[in-house]
Amino acid sequence: MENIDIISEMNRSLLLSVVIPMKNEEVNIASLFQRLFPVLHGLDISFEVICIDDGSTDKTLNTLLTQQKKHPELIVLTFSRNFGQHAAVMAGFEQARGRWVITMDADLQNPPEEIPKLVAAFREGYDLVGTYREGRRDPIFRRVASDMVNWMTRKISGVYLKDFGCMLRGYTSDIAKQLARQKEYRIFIPALATLYAKNPVEIPVSHAPRTGGVSNYSFLKLFSLQLDLMTSLSLSPLRLLFLLGFFIAFLGISFGVLLLILRIILGPSWAVGGVFTLFAILFILIGGQFIAFGLLGEYIGRVFQEVRGHPTYIIKDTFKISPDVEPPDNADEGTSITKGSPAGMHQSKRSHT
Ligand code: UDP
Ligand code: MG
Repeated sequence: MENIDIISEMNRSLLLSVVIPMKNEEVNIASLFQRLFPVLHGLDISFEVICIDDGSTDKTLNTLLTQQKKHPELIVLTFSRNFGQHAAVMAGFEQARGRWVITMDADLQNPPEEIPKLVAAFREGYDLVGTYREGRRDPIFRRVASDMVNWMTRKISGVYLKDFGCMLRGYTSDIAKQLARQKEYRIFIPALATLYAKNPVEIPVSHAPRTGGVSNYSFLKLFSLQLDLMTSLSLSPLRLLFLLGFFIAFLGISFGVLLLILRIILGPSWAVGGVFTLFAILFILIGGQFIAFGLLGEYIGRVFQEVRGHPTYIIKDTFKISPDVEPPDNADEGTSITKGSPAGMHQSKRSHT
């Protein structure tokens, strides 16, 4: 009897929310949906797809709204400007009503056909389903950088994920909502999620090259993402810095003592030859200081952003076809598009247009 209740409850409530951040993805949307929706329908569970237009300057929004007529399960959020991929995912988490939430990229680098594997992992009772890319299809510089970043992040954070960068990931709604409540400025979701997970798993998924358009990540943007990853997870970079400072100072002092001794033994004429050595030591010290200031600056910057209460994102509009809204008089179907931000959106602004 109880089982029947649980099953009927499951049927009534939404099971799966798919969250897709999008910046300038108009060329990919049609082919993405052509593959995504059959996979989701094939799962035979209730689902919704939430696309976040993260300040696109192309026709991403229009294309999404056109697609929405074909796919009533589609919910479209638009940001007032570009807030970044992770902020967009956070907005998706806030909006998501499914028991399980899966994030993915819009450019088909994460094959939608892998989604059933994640759903199967949820059914087995895992609450955080990480993935790692097998046969990664990115330029060599991205792959090498990514290997380094993964290694460094594991060491610094103590979080042992195989692949921090693959955004095809699954979270139970509990974890997604906890992440959405995070007020932290610019977070790195896959790493942070591990803090909340009780029963995580990592599964392999395939990877494809981008189908259309260009990557939104320049070298600088990748670097800033890496800083987000490191600083949002722990203070150990600060401690490392402290150690490094000690080490450099120790070297400097030892050199100083050595030079002094040699100066006493070999006399003043020798010391002129040491000028360049001194310069070299000075440069090492200055270099160390620069690293220190840079990193301290990063943390102070974060505190500053926190104090200012900068919003993580601002939602301009929400478009959804909602069956529970009274249809307008001239509606020829039983559904209507609602526009406007739902109440309680995390640090979001209502827009009345
Ligand atoms: N994206 C976003 N906002 C951004 C940058 C990227 O919403 O500021 C989205 C983008 O549309 C894509 C996903 O995040 O769906 C991954 O971005 P991209 O493919 O450009 O990154 P790469 O695969 O090159 O790391
Ligand atoms: Mg991509």
